[in-house]
Amino acid sequence: MGQRFDENNIVLALGGGPMKYAKLWQELDKRHWSGPRFPCNPLREQDEPCENELPNLKELDSLFKNGTFKYLGETSFHSMGIHPADERFNPYWELAEKYQIPIGFHADAGPFRRNMEETPNWNEEYGNPLLLLPVLEKYPKLKIYLMHYPGRYFNECIEVMKKYEQIYCEITAVSMFAPKEKWEPKVKKLYEEGLGDRLMFGSDYVGTIRKNIEIIYNLDWLSEEQKRDVYYNNAAKFLNLTELEITRHHKMVE
Ligand SMILES: [Zn+2]
Repeated sequence: MGQRFDENNIVLALGGGPMKYAKLWQELDKRHWSGPRFPCNPLREQDEPCENELPNLKELDSLFKNGTFKYLGETSFHSMGIHPADERFNPYWELAEKYQIPIGFHADAGPFRRNMEETPNWNEEYGNPLLLLPVLEKYPKLKIYLMHYPGRYFNECIEVMKKYEQIYCEITAVSMFAPKEKWEPKVKKLYEEGLGDRLMFGSDYVGTIRKNIEIIYNLDWLSEEQKRDVYYNNAAKFLNLTELEITRHHKMVE
C-alpha cells in the first residue's frame, strides 16, 4: 500500500475495513486515515474478521480520541438491508460528530455484480442519501462524503449537499465502469449547481488509484486549478487540515 501511495503522490487516504486491519493500516502508514467498515457484514469474506456488526462503543470512542481511527465507513446499509436512520446507529453518529470523523456513505445502487450469499438482505434503496436527512437533523455537524456520486442517486446527492454545506462527494466506481457520456454531464451539473468545490478525488480501491487520477485528469473542461482542487484542496477543506499539515503535504511531493 505504501508503495502505491508513493508512486501516485498520495499524501493522505481515507479507507475502512475490519477493525483488526484498520488498526494495522494506520500503524503501517500514517498517511492512512482508517476506521471500521460500518456496519461490517459477518457473511462477507472481505469483512473478515467481523465478530460484531457494530464496534464496541467504548473502544471506538478511545480509538477516535487517541487518533488511531480517523474515519468511519464505507457504509454498507444498502448491502446489508439496514435503513441508515436505524436507531442502533445513533451513538455512533454522536461519536463521529463529536470528534468530527469523516464518514464515507455508499450512495449508489450498485455494484451490480455481487455475491447474493454474502448479501441476502441487499436493498439498494438504502443507498439513497435522502435517508440521511433525519440523521443530519439530529446530528447537523456530521461530516459525510457521498460515494459514487453520478450513480442512481445523483439528484438526491445534490439535494442533500445543498442543504448541508459540509456534505461532499466523489465519483468513484461509476466513473470507472459506466460509459463517460452517461456520467460526465452529471459531474458538469455538479459545477453548474455551484457544488464543484465539494468534489473530492477517490479511488474506491487501492489498486485503482492511477486509473482514477486519469479520470479526473481527462475531464478537459476542468481548469488546471479545478483539477488541483479535486485532487487535494477540496479534501483539505473537508477534513479541516491545518496550515501546518498542508505545508507538510506539499513538501512530501516536491
Ligand atoms: Zn461503495
